[in-house]
Amino acid sequence: MNEPSRTEEPTGFDALGLRPELLKSLANLGYEEPTPIQRETIPLLGEGGDLLGQAATGTGKTAAFALPLLNTIDPLDAPLTTSLVLVPTRELAVQVSEAMFKYGSELKVKVVPVYGGQPIQRQLHALKRGAHVVVATPGRALDHIRRGSLDLDAVRHVVLDEADEMLDMGFADDIEEILGATPDDRQTILFSATLPPRINKIAEQYQRDPARVQIKRSDTDPGTALISQIVYHVNRHHKSGALGRILDIEAPTSAIVFCRTRTEVDELTETMNGRGYRAEALHGGMDQKQRDRVMGRLRDGTAELLVATDVAARGLDVDTLSHVVNYDVPSAPESYVHRIGRVGRAGREGVAITLAEPRQKRLLQNIERLTKQTIEVRKIPTVADLRNRQVELTVKAVSEALASDDLDDYGSVLDGLDGAESDRRIALAAIKLMHEARGTFLDEVEIPDATFRKEKDRHRKRNDKSGNFKKGERRNGESGPDSKKRHASTSNGDTGFVYVSLGRKAGVRPGDLVGAIANEAGLSGNQIGPIRIQENFSVVGVPEQSVDKVSKAVSATMLRGRKVRVRRYND
Ligand code: AMP
Repeated sequence: MNEPSRTEEPTGFDALGLRPELLKSLANLGYEEPTPIQRETIPLLGEGGDLLGQAATGTGKTAAFALPLLNTIDPLDAPLTTSLVLVPTRELAVQVSEAMFKYGSELKVKVVPVYGGQPIQRQLHALKRGAHVVVATPGRALDHIRRGSLDLDAVRHVVLDEADEMLDMGFADDIEEILGATPDDRQTILFSATLPPRINKIAEQYQRDPARVQIKRSDTDPGTALISQIVYHVNRHHKSGALGRILDIEAPTSAIVFCRTRTEVDELTETMNGRGYRAEALHGGMDQKQRDRVMGRLRDGTAELLVATDVAARGLDVDTLSHVVNYDVPSAPESYVHRIGRVGRAGREGVAITLAEPRQKRLLQNIERLTKQTIEVRKIPTVADLRNRQVELTVKAVSEALASDDLDDYGSVLDGLDGAESDRRIALAAIKLMHEARGTFLDEVEIPDATFRKEKDRHRKRNDKSGNFKKGERRNGESGPDSKKRHASTSNGDTGFVYVSLGRKAGVRPGDLVGAIANEAGLSGNQIGPIRIQENFSVVGVPEQSVDKVSKAVSATMLRGRKVRVRRYND
């Protein structure tokens, strides 16, 4: 699924007047089309006027202001500070500067974040080397201005991001002083999630006739009445595990999972396959033939999960679809309605599941306002919930089989076992086989629910993008390309890795690996992980001091009916 080229495909950003270097970075990031706020603001800002934008986090507002600013930078320009972005928190400073760095990578743009809490010396050096863009919290920006280390004479563009939060945090005076140190004829861009009167006052004070942009809400009846809408709150690095567990419980006939980018589609497809789902990717980087093939597999039931971007899934109509999953809260409420409308067609019931990070609360509220419906908040299923559900599904399947009229066809199997065991034990063995064939596997680690995260944690967590594992956490089926590296870097040297000579091709599932290692080497489930299952081999994290014991113990055993070789994995 990784083969299609990402850089030559036209994307929906082409019409926005952006430089080719930026288009290339966006294509590399897998962005297929601008979000509504981007579509509206990028051309506007390109004309140089001021802007007052109402947009919540998660709408793509960072790129909405970052791209037009970057568009004015010439790769050959000396790194004079022409853009200043003010943000309320250090986490947002880091996040915005990382985003600008990514978008501007092909332009070789120099972006420097300055915020309180980081040693000032480091920032002094960075500023001295020069920056096209400085992203700062107000207090630290003032500190640098007063020291003479931040020269704002060449500034052409100022962004006040999350202006309402900056005011709430008491930065009004600092902002005034900082703006006073910039040229009067600058472009001033203000983004705020809410527009209370004090924001309008700021706009009047510092902006010139700003264009106003707000994500439009349509009042049309979205027709979502037959769809049960559920949201689970979960942190970013637990998302794939949470999705696996939710789907295990929901047992959809077939489902579509919407992701934001092609990269995310590819990674999640691999992860879900590692977890035993027959998942297929669908994104704009695939040609028509590849897409048709994927759709065919979904329609005939060969695939049960379609992981897709919005663009690729446009116009998709599959009657067997029982579930729609938003792997992220969509940035526009209309897009949510559009997505979930894939189920609940022709009077049938459907389920729409959304995984939301704590910071995406406002987006959910926008959606509820548009659909005039409440999205039910559910807790991430616990290990016990999963076990109960597995039992329930097996009982249901066996009851259905008991009602079928061809049971006697299997009499010869029972005859073959005659006298060997009691009927009860034979039935239990048959149920065990069925459980295993259905891919029911050990999944022992609880996934933290993020429903009650306090609002003040919002910003801290938004930067929690690394997907790092914490010590003792296990992420089944993890198969991102750098998953091992990420884990190793945060494990304080405690986690070692073993190479296992069988992989997906041999039908290996995370539960097989956990089961074999736990049984043979006497480790407990939560000491095992992360797990990466590739086509022909697997790599499993175990406590460093147990690597040799696990290699020896598991090498003497069979996995999925085949002999397995296990050794320390060094690379
Ligand atoms: P923001 O609202 O700026 O915090 O952005 C929310 C998330 O959306 C970030 O993870 C961005 O990387 C992502 N994003 C922004 N624009 C796009 C786009 N056009 N396509 C896909 N993802 C995007």
